[in-house]
Amino acid sequence: MPDFLTKKKAIGPSGKRINRYEDYAEEILLIASLLSELVSADDQKKPVSNPSLIVKLRSKVIEEKESLAALEQFHQLAAERGLPYFANLQSESHRHTSYTATGSRFVADWTGDWELDTLQTGSIDNVSLNLARASYDAEGSQDSFFQLLDERIEMARRALEIKYRTLRQRVREGLLPFLSQEIGGNRYFRLENATRLISIVGLSETVESFIDKPMHLDEANGFLDTLLGQLSKGVLNHAKKPETRLVPSTVSSLIAKERLAELDIEHCGWEKVRVQGSKEQPYYADMVALPLVDKGVWRKRMRIEEKLNRFASGSHLTRLQLPDAGQDPDELLSVTREIMGGYEVGLFTYTRNLTYCANCQKTFYGDLPKCSRCGSTDILISTKSSHRSIS
Ligand SMILES: [Zn+2]
Repeated sequence: MPDFLTKKKAIGPSGKRINRYEDYAEEILLIASLLSELVSADDQKKPVSNPSLIVKLRSKVIEEKESLAALEQFHQLAAERGLPYFANLQSESHRHTSYTATGSRFVADWTGDWELDTLQTGSIDNVSLNLARASYDAEGSQDSFFQLLDERIEMARRALEIKYRTLRQRVREGLLPFLSQEIGGNRYFRLENATRLISIVGLSETVESFIDKPMHLDEANGFLDTLLGQLSKGVLNHAKKPETRLVPSTVSSLIAKERLAELDIEHCGWEKVRVQGSKEQPYYADMVALPLVDKGVWRKRMRIEEKLNRFASGSHLTRLQLPDAGQDPDELLSVTREIMGGYEVGLFTYTRNLTYCANCQKTFYGDLPKCSRCGSTDILISTKSSHRSIS
């Protein structure tokens, strides 16, 4: 129970206010525990991907026996299914912070009132900046590259402004009845407090194209810092109260990294582009999961994630990839404790590749082309970055 809610009146059946939230601490833990049980017990069906559970981590969660038991259950679920997301709200400045499972982050930093800034609002949209394309267009010149970025940030800002005005007009016309319904004289969805995300695609390829070293090496640090600083300034300079809540993001649409890579190859040719994957399936390496196998590597890479988190105040997500094998939940809990204690990473999740066979109705670890038990190709592959069906 976050301390700022304990004394608030609780909403009971039929919207009546009954007692305070602190009176329901036990029930809240019971609901959390039942939810995790429900999702993990459902093993006769396809792996559950919705609803997305977000577990908020505050220091009390690991200090108190009752909540620790619930947290252990969620790590059991993470070890089996990789399902829950963990929001690291340890620091005082993140007291009121709220996340969605797509990484969208709401902080009490817009009007300053946490209820207005984090509740009954959302994100208008997310426009992705293709950093890699700007680097090809700049032909090796950092000055031209940063100038191109400024121009493209301005284009993204305009696109989001148009979306905002369109939504506002629709609300006025009564075309979005759910969002525009009034409760106690206030509109349900606070459109003016909604974030407008500008995300980035092709970051690691761009760093490599200028520095000729992978992003996680120390030699790339200077350029990475300059780039994130310029991007952050470029986006935040356009933010304007009371309506233009523009924020940087590292989470872009799932298809953006593939589609933009394909378009760049078409436009610039294979000699010029720097992409990952194969000729048939090229993509930009966004949202790369950090393999949990090598502790030295993931700890070092978490420092890069910290940088990206600090930059992407509007939306971010750190993914820690589990190996395609059984996983000890206690080990995961100790990783979570380590992250809570030592890393400024806001939202993270343990990613697990799962393959579900419709014929056997069983789920297997890994990204398998067909069922390892019956050979059927009527399968559903599920990872945190994609949910695709093969049949
Ligand atoms: Zn099967």
